[in-house]
Amino acid sequence: MAPLIDPFQRPISYLRVSVTDRCDFRCTYCMAEHMQFLPKKDLLTLEELDRLCSTFIRLGVEKLRITGGEPLVRRDILTFFQSMSRHLKSGALRELTLTTNGSQLARFAGDLAAAGVRRVNVSLDTLDPKKFADITRWGRLPQVLEGIEAATEAGLKVKINAVALKGFNEDELFPLLDWCAAKGHDLTFIEVMPMGEMGEEMRLDQYWPLKDLRTRLAERFTLTDLTERTGGPARYVRIGETGQKVGFITPLTHNFCESCNRVRVTCTGELFMCLGQEDKADLRAPLRASADDAALEQAIRAAIALKPKGHDFDYSRQHVAGQMSRHMSHTGG
Ligand code: SAM
Ligand code: SF4
Repeated sequence: MAPLIDPFQRPISYLRVSVTDRCDFRCTYCMAEHMQFLPKKDLLTLEELDRLCSTFIRLGVEKLRITGGEPLVRRDILTFFQSMSRHLKSGALRELTLTTNGSQLARFAGDLAAAGVRRVNVSLDTLDPKKFADITRWGRLPQVLEGIEAATEAGLKVKINAVALKGFNEDELFPLLDWCAAKGHDLTFIEVMPMGEMGEEMRLDQYWPLKDLRTRLAERFTLTDLTERTGGPARYVRIGETGQKVGFITPLTHNFCESCNRVRVTCTGELFMCLGQEDKADLRAPLRASADDAALEQAIRAAIALKPKGHDFDYSRQHVAGQMSRHMSHTGG
């Protein structure tokens, strides 16, 4: 079967699937406090998600990341992971992983590990309980720390993702780094992206370019750029003094589109060919039109043929360009 190759000769081997738009947190940079969630009937069922992911895997996807909203609040989501593990066993899928806020990990870590998950990304922007409650609005830090602990005990490799926020966690750069080093977690920083309904002024206020963060790191440590990539958008440095690996996801200061190998599917079956563009294709209609996967496959191929070259996010002229009205929880960051 011909693999999925986009018009810019990029093979599509990485699929990120948002399995729900719901979440038990309301992070200020991600969601509004009062969110209108999708009607349940619009969501793909777990069986439909299975067919969809299995079709992508047949077409050459080797890495599957489950995200949301918060993936672990979707009812019966464990059965989906258990079902996907057959593709790990067959060798078609190289990695099954998830991005989570960690709130439900204490409950799920053991079963996820048993289903073949080896690594998990946990989002954690601060180690201060009060600040954590402020930024997530509804979250509690101890619950997340317990979840991370449980994941480690279950043998999962934990990577911490922290959104770099000016005036919020700038002062926690070194504490976060030290904590991750002590716990054996990798750490990746993410630049805040202009998604959702937040006003332009607030976006610019929050924006802490990772270039600046890196400069601050370099004042204390020796940084060596690593050439390795993990199939995702992060670039890594090694900290000479501690041996730690630190990642940077810089959609705004560094355009990473040229090596983009991924596409995203929302919980309603919309295929977004680029996180930063509105182009999308509906996969739910072909999924529901027939039990046969031929129409679905055709729709996927047609969409990949339209994958744009890159996004247009840009803060450089002191305004936010390329802003997306979609919330991050919709396409699953
Ligand atoms: N709920 C899960 C979590 O928080 O990890 C998975 C979904 S969440 C949308 C995925 C990632 O997107 C998180 O690491 C979150 O910090 C990040 N994110 C959300 N809104 C963002 C924004 N406006 N800019 C950059 N990253 C964002
Ligand atoms: Fe929920 Fe994750 Fe968005 Fe926070 S970043 S509101 S945890 S989906």
